[in-house]
Amino acid sequence: MKLTLLGTGDAPGTPVIGCSCPQCEYARTNHVQRLRTSLLVQHQGAHILIDTSPDLRQQLLLNGSPKIDAVIWTHGHYDHFMGFGDFYRVQKMPDVYAAPEVLAYCGNIFKFLPFRRCPVEPYHSFDISGLSVTLVEVNHPPAYTCGVVISDGETRIGYTADTRADIPAASLQAFTGVDLLFIDALVPPQFNIPKHMNYREACEVAGRIGASEFRCVHMSHHVAWDLPNTGKDGETFCFGTG
Ligand SMILES: [Zn+2]
Ligand SMILES: [Zn+2]
Ligand SMILES: [Zn+2]
Repeated sequence: MKLTLLGTGDAPGTPVIGCSCPQCEYARTNHVQRLRTSLLVQHQGAHILIDTSPDLRQQLLLNGSPKIDAVIWTHGHYDHFMGFGDFYRVQKMPDVYAAPEVLAYCGNIFKFLPFRRCPVEPYHSFDISGLSVTLVEVNHPPAYTCGVVISDGETRIGYTADTRADIPAASLQAFTGVDLLFIDALVPPQFNIPKHMNYREACEVAGRIGASEFRCVHMSHHVAWDLPNTGKDGETFCFGTG
């Protein structure tokens, strides 16, 4: 299993249009970005995308133009699904897996596109291309939102880009002991946002879960570039041989 962070940013991305803060200036000077958060999972020749960000076209071009076989939508916020239309006339529309209400909401916005809709209940594992995938509910009010646990039988990955720290116990249990966790860290420790975690909370949750390794994602331009365990766009992680 190979994982690639296609984006690590929040809804506006970094640099933010028109912003001259130190992080945005650094991004322009050094030609780095935090595109909107999305994770590419490769396994045995298949490509699965967690969330279809508004930067999807650019993200696929920057990462070898993979043909995407399946998409998982975590929730119906603009920065997590609105890039789905970028598949149109480029490749066969991928199958989409999501919790029923997320699929209904996002699918309705893309009702003009033909694609296979696969509603899946949280906490019930299903198979995509030989990977076991489980959606788990997180806490990102008022949007109904799921995180994702993916296993190839040897390695387990956890992903939750948008959540508060008070994640339901059943979901914390599902994330326990993952080999790698991707976790929401929207803002630095001194900020508190009711729908998201700050950097300190993200590190605490990763510790509580007992993740072997973790990367912060969904970071705003307030988050310094050099904090430990912050994900980088284009960063890859390889496990096993598949
Ligand atoms: Zn800025
Ligand atoms: Zn969100
Ligand atoms: Zn978001």
